Amino acid sequence: MGLFSKKQKPINSYAGMVDSAALAQRALDFIAEGVLLIDAGGMIQFANPAAATMTGYDSSTMLTGLDYSLILRLESADGAPIEISKTDIYTAIKTNQPLTSREYLLVSAQAEHRMAIALSVIPTGGTHDFKIITFRDITKELQEENEQAEFISTASHEMRTPVASIEGYLGLALNPQTATIDARAKQYLEAAHSASQHLGRLFKDLLDVTKLDDKRLKAHPVPVDAVEVVQKLAATHEKEFMAKNLHYTFGANEPTGGFDKKHIEPKVYMAVDLDFLREILDNLIGNAIKYTPAGGQIWVNVRGDGDKVLINVTDTGIGISAEDAAHVFQKFYRVDNSQTRQIGGTGLGLYLVKQRVEALHGRVWLESAFGQGSTFFVSLPRLSASEYERMSIAEANQRMIQQFSAAPAQPAQSAPVAKPAAMPTPAAQPVAMPIPNSQTIAQAVAAVGPAAPKPGILTSGSITQQGGTQ
Ligand code: ATP
Ligand code: MG
Repeated sequence: MGLFSKKQKPINSYAGMVDSAALAQRALDFIAEGVLLIDAGGMIQFANPAAATMTGYDSSTMLTGLDYSLILRLESADGAPIEISKTDIYTAIKTNQPLTSREYLLVSAQAEHRMAIALSVIPTGGTHDFKIITFRDITKELQEENEQAEFISTASHEMRTPVASIEGYLGLALNPQTATIDARAKQYLEAAHSASQHLGRLFKDLLDVTKLDDKRLKAHPVPVDAVEVVQKLAATHEKEFMAKNLHYTFGANEPTGGFDKKHIEPKVYMAVDLDFLREILDNLIGNAIKYTPAGGQIWVNVRGDGDKVLINVTDTGIGISAEDAAHVFQKFYRVDNSQTRQIGGTGLGLYLVKQRVEALHGRVWLESAFGQGSTFFVSLPRLSASEYERMSIAEANQRMIQQFSAAPAQPAQSAPVAKPAAMPTPAAQPVAMPIPNSQTIAQAVAAVGPAAPKPGILTSGSITQQGGTQ
């Protein structure tokens, strides 16, 4: 029996006589997307033919009355079986939240076929508490996306090398120690240098997008003092604040109230990939600088918020309308108005921020008023002091093991010290300049200076309020 069978009437071509319920039933019979309607207990009340075919059943009526979790057999993208009760699908159904996911493979009843699916949970509201689950085969779509990503990744990788070389030689031409040029040539070369830097960044962003999309870029979290590390990373933008006459304030505070140990703990710790965090802050602070007219204000603030670390970047810039705010985290989305048209950009920055924050199991969102300014919030999982201590010791041990195993066996005679590679002279034939690799974790930790592992104990004392907080 179909969902709309009560009212079923033959469909005829007279528009006025067409029964809409019958039409709806017919649409569900013919669409390629699987549709299940489940009740509050998870029992299937209706299934369309595509749902039966995709799950490996002969007819949709066979699904009626069964528990949806028996029908939706899922695997992860790498083929590991997944219990539905441990998924976001289950949570969305239980908590009445809408969900869209492209994470899973659907396995048919006899396991004779599996397909990548885009699955949605749609709560219908109302007294019956029904939910609609839809799923669609996206195997071909994913294959096309992979081919596209592969192309972008290869093209940007290939182009980064000559661009880095151009950038390097322009740098040499502009350096008074390696070249002599007149004032006019300097002006031209500076413009070319800055354009080549921009191009280099763009290729890097494109490469990162494809790596993040296919999960090749993995986070390597290390335990850090959140305030210290964010303050140091944000401070690398000080020259840009000054160049644009922007008033910058860094602040750190604790929420008031609450007797949870984490609330009264004076230090705020987290485990993050430092390269990811640097990219996140560079993009958010870079945007704040770019979209705030000279003379404006920028705040970067870090605080513990229960079991989260909350970082915000606030500006008094041009702001974002509610309509655009819903889209700014999408790939290549740029707000199009008279102000933004004069400011360059690709629309990749916030997409990369979102991908990286999510890879760190966090969340990013924004609050903004058009014409008044914006605040971007990043919330990341927080470590308690004891978790931080444990991870720091483990991390230090790990580093020691790595150093130990990387150290060469003691040579009989002392090895000659390698001479530094000679700098190419402008007269030399152009060669590819080395592209700076991302730092190793150990180097990055040293560069931003996380709180050194303190075996045993963490000093007490409150976080210094360095400037105003919002
Ligand atoms: P890029 O890829 O170089 O970062 P972009 O800055 O244009 O280019 P995003 O950082 O992804 O791209 O930002 C998307 C859009 O969101 C921007 O084009 C801009 O319109 C808007 N936006 C982002 N941050 C701010 C901000 N702090 N204030 C006002 N608008 C902003
Ligand atoms: Mg940007």
